[in-house]
Amino acid sequence: MVNREKIEEAVRLLLEGIGEDAGREGLRETPGRVARMYEEIFAGMEASAGEHLAKTFTAENNEMIIEKDITFYSVCEHHMMPFYGKVHIGYIPDGKVAGISKLARTVEVFARRLQIQEKMTAQTADAIMEHLRPKGVIVLVEAEHMCMTMRGVKKPGSRTVTMVSRGEFEENEILKNRFLSLVR
Ligand code: ZN
Repeated sequence: MVNREKIEEAVRLLLEGIGEDAGREGLRETPGRVARMYEEIFAGMEASAGEHLAKTFTAENNEMIIEKDITFYSVCEHHMMPFYGKVHIGYIPDGKVAGISKLARTVEVFARRLQIQEKMTAQTADAIMEHLRPKGVIVLVEAEHMCMTMRGVKKPGSRTVTMVSRGEFEENEILKNRFLSLVR
């Protein structure tokens, strides 16, 4: 569980650290607001992907299924700044398909933590492999990192792309390319 008191204390120190008056009117409620917000944006630490992927349906056939443009918001663990964008998931069922919206819920479990994009991509793919047991899965994440764009290291709108493939997607370039042509 999130410790709200610790967060509030830390935010007060942070405000003082940047030279602010933590007691002034506009900032008085800020530590409390940040603590409540953190509880929500880091809720993934308490959540498990298995729960969302437990409900499955029998696959009609084992053709590739793609869930694209899943919007996510996460926080980078290096700067504690947001990174956000889209996740595209493709998988080849092995008799089972996930319920509608469950892949998006799975993404959320890993996005709502302090993260690095590569790790979030791999965790999503591994959770689907573990709980849904498809023949293969591929996860592509395109994200903008505020820690880069806000500081002018990179131009606004520039995106970082990560991709992780497991099972049949690892070896099969044709499958991989079919997925890429469908999500891009
Ligand atoms: Zn960062």
